Amino acid sequence: VTQDGQHIEVFANVNRVADAEQAVEYGAEGVGLMRTEFLFLESGETPTEDEQYQLYCDMARALKGRPLTIRTLDIGGDKQVPHLNLPKEDNSFLGIRGIRLCMARPDLFEPQLRAIYRAAKDTGNIRVMFPMISTISELEQVIAKCEAIRSEVNAPKVELGIMVEVPSTAILADHFAKLVDFFSIGTNDLTQYTLAMDRVHPQLAKQADAMNPAVLRMIDLTVRAAKAEGKWVGVCGGAASDIRGAEILTGLGVTELSITVPTIPTIKAQLRRVALTELQTLAQKALSCRTAEEVRAL
Ligand code: PEP
Ligand code: MG
Repeated sequence: VTQDGQHIEVFANVNRVADAEQAVEYGAEGVGLMRTEFLFLESGETPTEDEQYQLYCDMARALKGRPLTIRTLDIGGDKQVPHLNLPKEDNSFLGIRGIRLCMARPDLFEPQLRAIYRAAKDTGNIRVMFPMISTISELEQVIAKCEAIRSEVNAPKVELGIMVEVPSTAILADHFAKLVDFFSIGTNDLTQYTLAMDRVHPQLAKQADAMNPAVLRMIDLTVRAAKAEGKWVGVCGGAASDIRGAEILTGLGVTELSITVPTIPTIKAQLRRVALTELQTLAQKALSCRTAEEVRAL
């Protein structure tokens, strides 16, 4: 809670049950990003629907009623899964990645959705979000698929959100906001795609800064559009785990920061020291800066 009484939710990014338990111990109010592709990356094979169901239930129970945000598979780009033997692409970050792969591969996506909805029915604290959404029609198809699977397994409705990590989605956020319950901004990819700088390129690492005002303006657009529809916005990209980033994002109107477990106490302590009004003033100044260096100098 900031000095002027604004509650900012501090959530954790975790993939494993043991990490979820630790996150709660460190003060996390929930999980804002569970990267499910790690289930595929680590085991060397595709987990079955029942294995996924069990894991999602275990994760949700480890959080003792706090929300668990499960992100559906985000394979492709920097997250290659050798055993799937997917065709090699020249521009894998711009190819069949994330939700595009899920929609092209119902054999992967449908068991995952069934496992998620079954777990949601049994535990009651699960939210779902989709990675790499870039067009409205793709989101409409995803939502239709979810509804079909939800009724097949006779599960209750769960909160559905999208990652905002592609510029087209930030720019059309007013339209997207009408279709979802929440946005979660992925600043790692949003920075990469806004600046056209590969997120894993060693020479570009320093310049690929989410504090670049071009990225901040994308975030500002997204938050304004969400608020106009009464929806909330979180950030689960790396910028939220950085003290300065957390301050600017909060000043822009983000109300859930999903961060790495070790940074939880530091980010909470810092947010308690400041007033939201100060952060709002800071964020407005940042939006009119010309460079990331100018923003950091603030
Ligand atoms: C992001 O892009 O900021 C994000 C949280 O997703 P990932 O890092 O898994 O691509
Ligand atoms: Mg991403």
